[in-house]
Amino acid sequence: MPNHQLIEPQGRKLSYLRVSVTDRCNFRCSYCYSNADTPLDEEELLKDDEIIKLIHVFVSLGINKVRLTGGEPLLRKNLVNLVEKIAAIHPIKLVGLTTNGYLLKPQLPSLIDAGLNRINISLDTLRRDVFKNLTSIDGLERVLNSIDAAERSETFPFVKVNMLLMNGFNDLEVNDFADWALSRKIDLRFIEFMPTQCADWEERKFISESDLRNLLKYELLHDYENEDINSPARSYRVEGYPGRISFISAMSRSFCKSCSRLRLTSDGRLLGCLFGKRDIDLKPLLVNNKSINEIADYVKKMISTDGFRQIPSEKGAAYQPAMKSIGG
Ligand code: SAM
Repeated sequence: MPNHQLIEPQGRKLSYLRVSVTDRCNFRCSYCYSNADTPLDEEELLKDDEIIKLIHVFVSLGINKVRLTGGEPLLRKNLVNLVEKIAAIHPIKLVGLTTNGYLLKPQLPSLIDAGLNRINISLDTLRRDVFKNLTSIDGLERVLNSIDAAERSETFPFVKVNMLLMNGFNDLEVNDFADWALSRKIDLRFIEFMPTQCADWEERKFISESDLRNLLKYELLHDYENEDINSPARSYRVEGYPGRISFISAMSRSFCKSCSRLRLTSDGRLLGCLFGKRDIDLKPLLVNNKSINEIADYVKKMISTDGFRQIPSEKGAAYQPAMKSIGG
């Protein structure tokens, strides 16, 4: 049981930790990557035992769901071992992975054996040439094979596919994506394009959820039954189909009010908010061998300070995050 449930000044309960395990990526998506990026040196990354120690800290504060992201998390050596250690921590129930899927298929059985039980795969186009242009890798088939394997494993309630929607890039594909996802056990999540560091964000590329809904040919029925009130996604079923469609609309419908998440970067900085400028560097506490309780007390104190977590009433993004290294 947690020592003291982490509740920040706005009264939001924190239960979900996203851990970026590397800032490197094998894809070069123009909205995320910039040539000016210098990746961290290997020794700057948190070691597995440091990540595990910090997860114990957060579990003592009420976190029970952990998601691994990146960069591309499957580039981290021995990710399977890390998943296994995280899944063994009581009372963590959900261990998820957000990946571009390129390296997933061969590692999937071991990840599942290790305790992985949630998966999100990012895929922005179903067209091979467009995929290659975006990512610099001719990898669509491999990603689709990974999605097939994840679906066939029957491990995940849904295989979640994140599609970042951009006007003039993939807006003409929304119904192809919906046809493909709905006929399978896929939760297709349309993500509004957010201004981030390195993103080639332009107003004209932005499509709001309401404009997207006008493009979709399906009649959507809110999936209240399976709603997770802390999720930024709102999900919909279509009668007669196993899949579902979700919207993650940070720009047009802020979900700060229900945000239950914290983010840990691969070099040990804790972020209270994707769009918040402030972070806390936890590395020095690890280097100085502080105990789990000491680190937990420090985290609790820092989280209570003004401005660490964006206030729900604040409209819009205060700061542009480095999505590439924070991992969404
Ligand atoms: N490499 C992993 C992957 O591809 O899923 C994890 C990192 S990636 C940065 C995580 C997610 O962030 C992806 O689904 C991507 O589409 C999303 N993302 C990146 N830049 C974004 C932006 N400007 N607006 C909205 N989502 C973005």
